[in-house]
Amino acid sequence: MNTNLHDTIYDVIVIGAGHAGCEAANAAARMSCQTLLLTIDLDKLAHMSCNPSIGGPAKGHLVREIDALGGLMAKITDRTFIQIRLLNESKGPAVQALRAQADKRLYAKVMKETLEAVPNLDLKQAMVTQIATLDGTSQIDPTATPHGHPGFAVTTHTGRIFRGRALIVTTGTFLRGRAITGEAIWGAGRAGEAPSVALGEDLAARGFPLVRLKTGTPPRIDARTIDFNKTEVQEGSTVPLWFGHYYQEGEDKETRRRDSDIGDQYGLTSRSPSLPVSMSLPVPSYSGPPAAVYPLPMLGGWRDQLPCYLVHTTAEFHAIVQANLARAPMFSGVIEGVGPRYCPSIEDKIVRFADKERHGMFLEPEGWETSEVYVQGCNTSLPEDVQWAMLRTIPALRRVELMRPGYAIEYDAIATGEIGPSLEAKRQPGLFLAGQINGTTGYEEAAAQGLIAGINAARHAHSKPAVVLRRDQAYIGVLIDDLVTKEIHEPYRMFTSRAEHRLMLRSDNADLRLTPIAAELGLVAQGRAAAVEQKRAESEGLIEILRGRRVFPSAATNARLEQVGIAPIHTEATAEDLLRRPEVGYEQLREALELPNAPAHVVEQAVIGSKYGGYLVKQQREIDRAIRMETRRLPDTFDYAAIRGLRNEARQVLSRVRPATLGQAARLAGINPADIAVLLVELER
Ligand code: FAD
Repeated sequence: MNTNLHDTIYDVIVIGAGHAGCEAANAAARMSCQTLLLTIDLDKLAHMSCNPSIGGPAKGHLVREIDALGGLMAKITDRTFIQIRLLNESKGPAVQALRAQADKRLYAKVMKETLEAVPNLDLKQAMVTQIATLDGTSQIDPTATPHGHPGFAVTTHTGRIFRGRALIVTTGTFLRGRAITGEAIWGAGRAGEAPSVALGEDLAARGFPLVRLKTGTPPRIDARTIDFNKTEVQEGSTVPLWFGHYYQEGEDKETRRRDSDIGDQYGLTSRSPSLPVSMSLPVPSYSGPPAAVYPLPMLGGWRDQLPCYLVHTTAEFHAIVQANLARAPMFSGVIEGVGPRYCPSIEDKIVRFADKERHGMFLEPEGWETSEVYVQGCNTSLPEDVQWAMLRTIPALRRVELMRPGYAIEYDAIATGEIGPSLEAKRQPGLFLAGQINGTTGYEEAAAQGLIAGINAARHAHSKPAVVLRRDQAYIGVLIDDLVTKEIHEPYRMFTSRAEHRLMLRSDNADLRLTPIAAELGLVAQGRAAAVEQKRAESEGLIEILRGRRVFPSAATNARLEQVGIAPIHTEATAEDLLRRPEVGYEQLREALELPNAPAHVVEQAVIGSKYGGYLVKQQREIDRAIRMETRRLPDTFDYAAIRGLRNEARQVLSRVRPATLGQAARLAGINPADIAVLLVELER
């Protein structure tokens, strides 16, 4: 049988259409690469295996950066969220972040529709079982491939072969995956889906060192069996909030107009959620449209929010967990993989924090048109009967029914030290790895890596140098640098504390930091790049106005200031000086001093620039110093074992990781300032 049915030699093949794979395929195709996306189930594109939530501190920053670089996650979240909120509103701008609850099913649907509309991109359902590196005698013309490297052929479970110049592997939790609920253990990539066994074995046979990791998910419960009167309601934002930076771009605006027109046509622009009417919900009862028009109204503008609900564990709940620890795979030794410490299972929390009387759990609806509710904070792999019994001790859940039990999943990830800063595998040029396979956890972390892998696979296919974001440029830079330079012993999740330059890496300026790069790569339209430059110019212009506007103490001036709630001045000041006062906002100042009106996103930059100016200047100095280190490249030819003065541990770490720059070397675990001094001397030589 001829399994080579397809003559196309793809520029880029992506294996896996989770959050990493979807972003990777979109980026590569939009960078003019003929791209193929292969995945086990085409109805589960960017499926949310766990919490139907996107964003939060640091993760929300990643989403904004993905958007600034022309990725998909922000815009698809905006079109599908059932709730959005701004977190840390009372704190500084560096840690403020959006968090949204997405409609899980709708998210996958919109992702599919979006990718189907991307030119140069083929989507195919297939499980890849084997990867082959093609040599110079293969069917691919070696002269047409980059760096003299011939490319790859991937074989699917049906024996079909696809060939490509660059390959991206984004298989998430599927490599030799195993799901566990109590005594029940079964092979799975996630519940209800087969694991990727052959590909895992193939990667191991190709010499990739694998580590065993673990993560878990809570039970999903039936909304019709929850007494919502016994919960605390957490509402979404009342003011419109969006992850996406720009919606004035041609196609986006069109989509939104079309959607809202359809909504208007049906009288549906503001719709209530479709939770079952039998529940005593403290939200508007369902009076929505016939199911046939779902989900069009949600695709457009601002809409009603669906609340989440807070409940707490009880003493009885804790007692049931304690009494069943012997049946908990986490404690009985059944689970060997290492799980994320910061996202412990409920049984782990109850054991580790034994003195804590109760733990909060949020009940989060999984969508507008489903009764499934996610129990946030209740990750567990306890047996199903225990899950059922412990939840029923909570007053709001006395009659609760599980729709899906919680479970843990154990899977293979590639050990640290295997990828370089472009996400290309060190042992296999042209092969890129992104997402959970690199030891991370989380949709946003996966999507961010996918986007960069897509960009760099496309650059590889076009024989162009890789794009690497620095730590001072983006959380994405921090994430990838950490993956490259640190030993990952547990699933890696992004936190704001991981970013040393976080005052610069704010949600509000992701477009200013990154959209120019995306424009150069062809990932955003020129109109959008121009809008960002306009924002930059107007913000800088407004700061100049504030600096140049001198205010002198006089009775008239002070009266005007006091009228808008600003304390009087006794010495000469600039408008910027006044804005630096914590209690002063731009609107007050504008009124008192007749300053110009400006769009909110311009005012925001000017206010942050004024209030935090001193800190920003200091941070920029630190960044300049770090960049100097970062630009000192360490030659590939360095024989660390032979460098005199290096400690043995440093020799081993440097030989194993082979950092690209002095800056990267300095961040490696096991490298100290004295080692860096030795390397500097060696570089001078
Ligand atoms: P995935 O989203 O897993 O997607 C992998 C894709 O690869 C799938 O589309 C699959 O079909 C495809 N695939 C796999 N093998 C092949 C093959 N051989 N051929 C073709 N296609 C293939 N994250 C958190 O942040 N917090 C949590 O609490 C959390 N809990 C989780 C609990 C569970 C049970 C699971 C399964 C995941 C959990 N996650 C959690 C992780 C989160 O789902 C992932 O971080 C994220 O989805 C990773 O994205 P990805 O693109 O790397 O992989």
